[in-house]
Amino acid sequence: MAEASPERSTERLAHHRLADHTTLRLGGPADDWVRASSEDELVTAVRDADAAGRPVLLLGGGSNLVVADDGFPGVVVQIATTGLQAEGDTCGGAYVTVAAGEGWDAFVERAVTEGWVGLEALSGIPGLVGASPIQNVGAYGQEVADTIARVRTWDRVEGAFRTFAAAECGFGYRTSRFKSDPGRHVVLSVTFQLRFGDLGAPVQYAELARTLGVGIGQRAPLDEVRRAVLSLRAGKGMVLDAADRDTWSAGSFFTNPVVACEELPEGAPAWEQPDGRVKTSAAWLIERAGFSKGYGLDRGAGRVALSTKHTLALTNRGGASTAELLELAAEVRDGVRERYGVALVNEPVLVGCTL
Ligand SMILES: Cc1cc2nc3c(=O)[nH]c(=O)nc-3n(C[C@H](O)[C@H](O)[C@H](O)COP(=O)(O)OP(=O)(O)OC[C@H]3O[C@@H](n4cnc5c(N)ncnc54)[C@H](O)[C@@H]3O)c2cc1C
Repeated sequence: MAEASPERSTERLAHHRLADHTTLRLGGPADDWVRASSEDELVTAVRDADAAGRPVLLLGGGSNLVVADDGFPGVVVQIATTGLQAEGDTCGGAYVTVAAGEGWDAFVERAVTEGWVGLEALSGIPGLVGASPIQNVGAYGQEVADTIARVRTWDRVEGAFRTFAAAECGFGYRTSRFKSDPGRHVVLSVTFQLRFGDLGAPVQYAELARTLGVGIGQRAPLDEVRRAVLSLRAGKGMVLDAADRDTWSAGSFFTNPVVACEELPEGAPAWEQPDGRVKTSAAWLIERAGFSKGYGLDRGAGRVALSTKHTLALTNRGGASTAELLELAAEVRDGVRERYGVALVNEPVLVGCTL
């Protein structure tokens, strides 16, 4: 990993506002703030805070965080580490180790340029590489669990460095051992194993296959897959764009619920799961429970609303508070429960607030 240059060393910034560091543009100030540019600074900042008994918030790109208006009563450790190392052979493909603070989409772009296969459908997801294993980011038929070889961490409970092979990461749909044991493991770097090639991995997602003009299970050139995904995502407000309020969100606010077959609402989409249950569409449930795209825009000050391009994204239209956003989230969640008896679960991490 690259060493920090002197001008990029740890910065301490008291009362920094989290709203300036989250894609929702919400969240009050932090008591203390450390920007860690090297692995050493990152571990030291976390270890010092732990020794002093101070709460720690690990901050990546802030694209999956809902932070209370009161802010964070502890130390925000902003992850700003850099570095990428690649080694490869024709049999095993490329082993690429990336520092936690590298931007996710810049890494995907590099993979497509280098001919590293397996990340192309994850183009355009905001945030940093270190957060990608936390909720096992996924989109358009791929998830990072498909290509992660290992994750190197600082274990705050053991006070030790630990490396987890993919099989030990507990990956599932939008979850992992890191998400289920929140805050315990500081992800320092992630190693991906990626095949070499000009064609992407077999396309698994119908909408993407249609756009590319291929069948499910067929392949298309890496750069074409990336372009198609970015264009589909932009049409849904799922690529960050400061000028577009539909992207002032934390992405999908609710995960797709997994329910027993007999609990599946009539007519709802269903994808069979290995445990015999079915996954259904949160967007389908929300729309049919009476919350269509843009819901909230014409109410009150219209400061929070469902995205006009995607039912699952709750957005800040400007000047909103976290309390307002959570009020809208609770209304949607309760509306779905009343209509269908299905409990929606929030995908973003809530800090200092509850739903
Ligand atoms: C417009 C938009 C579209 C999105 N689309 C998708 C999508 O298609 N698929 C998808 O899966 N997600 C999507 N997301 C959600 C989000 O981008 C991902 O979850 C992303 O991985 C979060 O990265 P981050 O660096 O912003 O993490 P943050 O929001 O900063 O942090 C998220 C959580 O991870 C923890 N964390 C962050 N870094 C580390 C680390 N190094 N070690 C330990 N813990 C850490 C934080 O403490 C927090 O609990 C979208 C979000 C937005 C705003």
